[in-house]
Amino acid sequence: MASDGKRRKPGLVPNLYAITLLYFALGFVSIHFGMLALACMSIPFILLSASGKKLWCHHYCPRSSLTTRTGSKRKNWRPLPKSFTDGFLRKMMLWYFGMNLLFIAGSTIQVAMGRMSPMPYVRLFIAVPLWPLPQLLENTGPAWLLHLSYRLYSMMLSSTILGIAFSRIWRPRAWCAVCPVGTLLNKHTHP
Ligand code: SF4
Repeated sequence: MASDGKRRKPGLVPNLYAITLLYFALGFVSIHFGMLALACMSIPFILLSASGKKLWCHHYCPRSSLTTRTGSKRKNWRPLPKSFTDGFLRKMMLWYFGMNLLFIAGSTIQVAMGRMSPMPYVRLFIAVPLWPLPQLLENTGPAWLLHLSYRLYSMMLSSTILGIAFSRIWRPRAWCAVCPVGTLLNKHTHP
């Protein structure tokens, strides 16, 4: 609380957006760096269980740092559509996130069992296949690791694209209103 007249601590630690950019750049070194998405998804919950607070959202989230930056040029923020605030889109995104993780886990197991070929390319929003990334390092791991790395990288890229688009259309942290990680964190901070 800032009741003593002191300025509130700044929210997000500055320049964390570089971590998001680095994550996507590392995908060109080796797609196996896509596995770092698992850390991105775990750290918010580790911080929550250690502190009981949404430290990730308030201070450390590289994605919202990026959307804050991409949306900062927009001077007149637009009100978010009702679907953002009435819970509809939040639920949809949670479903999408859950289905995505399920597909990723299921297809990776299938690849590991030899029942399915890996998909060594970026695919946006589960349905839009793009290309394999040029690789600086040779990928020598098992096929399932290649598949899983591309799937996680694709999921991160899809949601980052949405976050940036929302920041340009409405406001810098519009994505936070529907972010599945934020929704899950909320469920544990507001019983
Ligand atoms: S709601 Fe999502 S995007 Fe926003 S700060 Fe939290 S984890 Fe980051």
